[in-house]
Amino acid sequence: MSGPTDLPTPGRALAVAAHPDDVEFGCGGTLAKWAAAGCSVHHLVCTDGSKGSWDPDTDVAELVAVRREEQRAASLALGGAGDVVFCGWTDGELEAGLRQRWEVASWIRRIRPDVVLGHDPWKRYRLHPDHRAAGFLLTDAIVAARDPHFFPELAAPPHRPTTLLLWEADEPDHVEDISDHLTTKVASILCHRSQFRSTMQIDDPSVSAETERFRQKMADRAAEHGRAAGVMFAERFKVMRDL
Ligand SMILES: [Zn+2]
Repeated sequence: MSGPTDLPTPGRALAVAAHPDDVEFGCGGTLAKWAAAGCSVHHLVCTDGSKGSWDPDTDVAELVAVRREEQRAASLALGGAGDVVFCGWTDGELEAGLRQRWEVASWIRRIRPDVVLGHDPWKRYRLHPDHRAAGFLLTDAIVAARDPHFFPELAAPPHRPTTLLLWEADEPDHVEDISDHLTTKVASILCHRSQFRSTMQIDDPSVSAETERFRQKMADRAAEHGRAAGVMFAERFKVMRDL
């Protein structure tokens, strides 16, 4: 791969994730870049995030509420002024069924994004079932949102996004230059404070060395993705056009 393959800034973007924090990890730099250039950025989170703690004594209802607040804060940190939709399906049990497809398709028709971003469902050896399911749910929902004979009872008319970007892609073929937006990406991830231990290996955020180690890890990954494209920091995707 040579050179960044930046898309033109879309007017509207919708990122669809399995859990709170997946969007920020997957495409936070790209969304921050687009938001800064005037794009309206929207989030849709499929599950309630209720498995997102290693503490068996966690109050699950409280965790769900906290994670919603964290997701809203992360969206704002990216510059996203659009909707933050919570479908609220049970974490770890996400299915790409018709009921779920109806819901996601209805949001695509309402939000009417030019670009949609999500998990790559074809990524091999992916362990977490929600990431697979959220990927298939999104691809299936795009077809349903686009074709008028799906779900005719929906009030919003059909909508066909122009482009789909899949993060953590099995065969990445698209690079977005995020050199000026890595700091914002990391800041948005750090809004997910309940995930410090389990996802970011930060035991005590008051110890700056731990937070710094996480920042460095994110910078190393973005630099590795940027190197092949000749930019400082990048995010990689599989791009699908002609949806
Ligand atoms: Zn996740």
